Parts: sequence; C-alpha cells; structure tokens
Amino acid sequence: MPKHKTQDCKQCGRPSLVFPEEQCRSCNAPVTLRAPNVQIAKSVKKDLDKRYSHCMRKARKLGRVRVFRRFAKYASESHAVLCMNISFAHEMVTNSNWVYVPYGVLRAARARLPMPEYADRTRSAIDGGLYGSFCDGRITYAALSTNGFGTDSYGPVHVRLNTRTIDFRATVYEGNTFRKEHYREPRDIVGRLASWEDRGRLAAVKAIEMICNDDNFDFENGLLSPGPDKMKDEYIEVHIYGSFDLNSVDGVSCTVDFAQARPIEQLMVQAIEDYVISRNIEWKTI
Ligand SMILES: [Zn+2]
Repeated sequence: MPKHKTQDCKQCGRPSLVFPEEQCRSCNAPVTLRAPNVQIAKSVKKDLDKRYSHCMRKARKLGRVRVFRRFAKYASESHAVLCMNISFAHEMVTNSNWVYVPYGVLRAARARLPMPEYADRTRSAIDGGLYGSFCDGRITYAALSTNGFGTDSYGPVHVRLNTRTIDFRATVYEGNTFRKEHYREPRDIVGRLASWEDRGRLAAVKAIEMICNDDNFDFENGLLSPGPDKMKDEYIEVHIYGSFDLNSVDGVSCTVDFAQARPIEQLMVQAIEDYVISRNIEWKTI
C-alpha cells in the first residue's frame, strides 16, 4: 500500500498532517484552536483567581505559604496521562492508521458498546454539565501526573501525551468527576475548572487542607492518588478536546505484573516495549 503523504503541523510540530485532510492527527488543529472547553474555562478564570488568593492568605496565616507555592509550581510542570488496557495499547503501537477516538464519538457512531448503564449516564451527564452541547462527546479524558503514571483502574498501560499537542485545547477539572463529592451540578465549574496553564494553581487550591495540615504532605500523592477502582481514584482530571495519534505520545509506562500476566499478555507487552523503544518514546516500568 502506498504511504500517506504527511507534513509537519504548524501548531504542534508533529508530522501528522495527512494529505489532503483538513486537521492534524496529533492535535486536531485548526479545528481545536477554538476548543469550546477552553473558552468555557477562561470564562470562569476570575473565580479560580479569587479562590487561589483566598487559599494563599490561608496558607500564609498558617506559615505554609512556601509549601503552597512550591506545590503549585510542581503541579504546573505536570503532564496529561491516560491509561489503557494491553490490547488497546498494542493496537496503538502496531496499527499505523491508529487514532484515539473519544468515547462520545464512538457511541454516536455506534462503533462500541456502551459502558455499564450507570457509568454511561454519569459520563454523559458530566460531559453535558461541564460543557453543554459544545463539546459534543469529543472529550478525551486523562489525569495530571508528574511521573508518567496515571490510574491503573483504566488499564495498566500509561500513556503520557506531548504537551504541545494538547496545551491549547485542554482544560483541567478539580477531581475525578465520577466521584459525587467532586461533581454534582453544572455550577460546580465555578472555581474548579481551569485552562491548561492554570493547572498548577488549581492543584494547589484543591490540596489546600493537606498543604496546611499535613507536615509530611507528599506532592506526588497530593496530585494523583490511585484507588482500588475508578470510583476511588483521586486526581486532577484533564479534558482534551478531540483525539490524538501515536505522534502525540511522549512516554509509555507499564504497571503489568509480568510474571503474573498470561502468555499472550506477556507477548503483547513485549511488542509494545520493543515498538515504543524503537520509536524513541520513553519506556518505563515499575
Ligand atoms: Zn498538530
């Protein structure tokens, strides 16, 4: 089969503009240059500013302002990481036509089965509550991470995305939206939703109680704390408008217990590792 003709994308720099497609496969520019989630987050920026100032005053009063600032800086250097199962990751690295497709888009095309009914309703309600009809199911979900590892509950292969392919089309939300204490109703976006460049400040206000009350506050755990299942994971959620391809991937980390894995899984993990290393993508295991 003839190879695609590609060009480097002016927005993200990746060689992902496929002739004669209208948008980049890595960052989806130019369609994503007016990402509705980012515009909505910018419209509530003042509320985050207010909350940040309030938390800063609180930290100062308690002598914790340096920790507060350090944690905000630490979180501002985080990346978006999403987790997937082994066979999905194997497809990602071995299929040259692979593009990640958000859940809502697959469902609209009837191209996958729904999640269990409760999870599907929750996902749809949260999508709508955060962004109304504007994002139309096109949100790719990830978590903020500083070490390349996300939340195992979505699968043991952790994919770190290149920031330049997402920074202009990603927003961050205070917590795991599947957890009711984080998301109950549309007005919850006030002070809890931020654009990508404000992710460090959002993480700091979220962690204010730990910063002020825990002398041994652990930054890594304060940003992302995996639980035993999806409902108990704790993290800052990343909402990326649109899809991505393998050119958007900077790192792959694997938490598969190799000795316990089935032979077919071992083979697939080995293939993923070989392919990732041959593409000069960072590879990490626990
Ligand atoms: Zn691009």
